[in-house]
Amino acid sequence: MNRRLLVDLNALKANYRLMQGKVKPARCAAVIKAGAYGLGANRVACALSDAGCDCFFVATAEEALELCSYVSGADLYVLEGIDAQSVHDLRNARIIPVLNTYVQVELWAKSCAGGQPNRCVLHLDSGMNRLGFDEAEVRKLAANTRLLGRLNVDYLMTHLACADEAAHEQNPLQLRRFEQLRAHLPPCRISIANSAGIFLGTEYHGDLVRPGIALYGGNPKSVGPNPMHEVVRACGRIVQVREIHRASTVGYGASAI
Ligand SMILES: *Cc1c(COP(=O)(O)O)cnc(C)c1O
Repeated sequence: MNRRLLVDLNALKANYRLMQGKVKPARCAAVIKAGAYGLGANRVACALSDAGCDCFFVATAEEALELCSYVSGADLYVLEGIDAQSVHDLRNARIIPVLNTYVQVELWAKSCAGGQPNRCVLHLDSGMNRLGFDEAEVRKLAANTRLLGRLNVDYLMTHLACADEAAHEQNPLQLRRFEQLRAHLPPCRISIANSAGIFLGTEYHGDLVRPGIALYGGNPKSVGPNPMHEVVRACGRIVQVREIHRASTVGYGASAI
């Protein structure tokens, strides 16, 4: 059987360069969580490093610890942040957490007591309502200058809920909300856009963009042709070719026409 999933690493690299060129002078990271969306985090990370990527995001501490030797020299960020179990392993491996809660901030600050402030990203919730600091927590953190002083914040980050829909009112709302939230904190570099966010315009680029799906060939635009190169191709044996009436449907939900 020759069933295979073919991953074109050259197309992947071309997609990274395309994104990097598009967002310049902002920095372009690569989101390689969930095994680089199923394509294999190690190989994807190595190929992207070749293409000049020096900044990666994964979801979990386990992913980061497995990956860190493949991307040594690059910045490796963990979206879920830290807990009491992972904090020391991550710090020892120089992996950088995205801090989503006040508790995580305290834990990270405590882990570097006496040493250099540890690098981190602060996640501010501008309307996704999933992870991150809300207004009350941002104010509480801003008031605690001693705690803030123990953090070395690389970026203030937020995540868009509706970037896939370019005309959605939630996009500019989140941009404004993010500005309001970060006005409480000392000035810092910012990161807003996922793949689709990059195509909303330069005001969404900030200092660092975080594409995932577009690097793997997914269309990041809500309308129009896909600007990305095809990375993944599924190969298999065709079992049956059928002719059906043009008014018929195909498959579950009778949805395909
Ligand atoms: C998954 C994720 C991304 C990448 O999103 P894509 O839509 O795949 O580009 C960026 N930022 C955060 C916080 C994410 O969780």
